[in-house]
Order: sequence, then C-alpha cells, then structure tokens
Amino acid sequence: MEIATRQKKRHTRWERILSHIMLFWEDVVKVPFFHCQRCGECILSHTGFVCSQRCPKRIRNGPCGGTSEEGHCEVYPERMCVWFLIYRRARFWGRVKLLYRIEKIHDWNLEKTSAWLNVFTGRIEPPKWRVPEE
Ligand code: SF4
Repeated sequence: MEIATRQKKRHTRWERILSHIMLFWEDVVKVPFFHCQRCGECILSHTGFVCSQRCPKRIRNGPCGGTSEEGHCEVYPERMCVWFLIYRRARFWGRVKLLYRIEKIHDWNLEKTSAWLNVFTGRIEPPKWRVPEE
C-alpha cells in the first residue's frame, strides 16, 4: 500500500505572485471541467478526474460513512456523495486501483495556491497518468 508524504516549503514572494497568475489560468480549465475548489494539492488523477474537494467535509480518502444506500451525501442529501461519483468514474476509466492509495492530510498552507506551480516546485507529486500494474 502506498502512503503519500510531503516536504514543507514556504512560498517565496515571487512564487506567491506567480501562483496568482497561474491560478487564474488553472481556474479557467479546472473550475468549469472539474469544479476545482483550489486546494493547491491536486489529486484529480487519483480520483477518476472527479474533484474530491467538492465533498462538504473535504475528505481526501474515501467516503465518511454517512453516505445513504442510494449514494446520497449526508450533509446535502439532495446531492450524490462525491466519493460515490469518484468510484463510478474510476471504474469507468479502469482507475479503481489508484483509489487504494492513502492520501496525506491536506496542507492548508497550500490552499488557494496554484497546484501546477506546486508540482513544478516539487511541493506536491505530479499527476499519475498510468495505473500501476498488479
Ligand atoms: S486542485 Fe484540489 S480542489 Fe482543484 S481539482 Fe485538484 S483536487 Fe480538486
């Protein structure tokens, strides 16, 4: 089983400026297509390309346990559970294996920063495109 780890590095002044610019372009792509919540620590490629941060509890490792039998959210019963949607999409794309990875606790210092910049500067891991073999 894989457990993700993190290196903590503060953003410099120039990185903060660059992050604002890159976040603008990131929003152009990720908000309409994925409903990105700007967590700055993107795990879209591990979650079937459904943003896990749409969950009202911001859970990054599977559903909370309050999901109804029909797959509805405990907090907003009119919505489907984000993790229900993630599993369904991951199954469709053949990416269920990536859901077994344990994601680290969210680093709130990265909130509202550019995930693209955070990949380039080595703060977070790059997206995983290939599903690992058995
Ligand atoms: S950066 Fe975070 S909030 Fe945005 S799509 Fe990726 S996981 Fe979701």
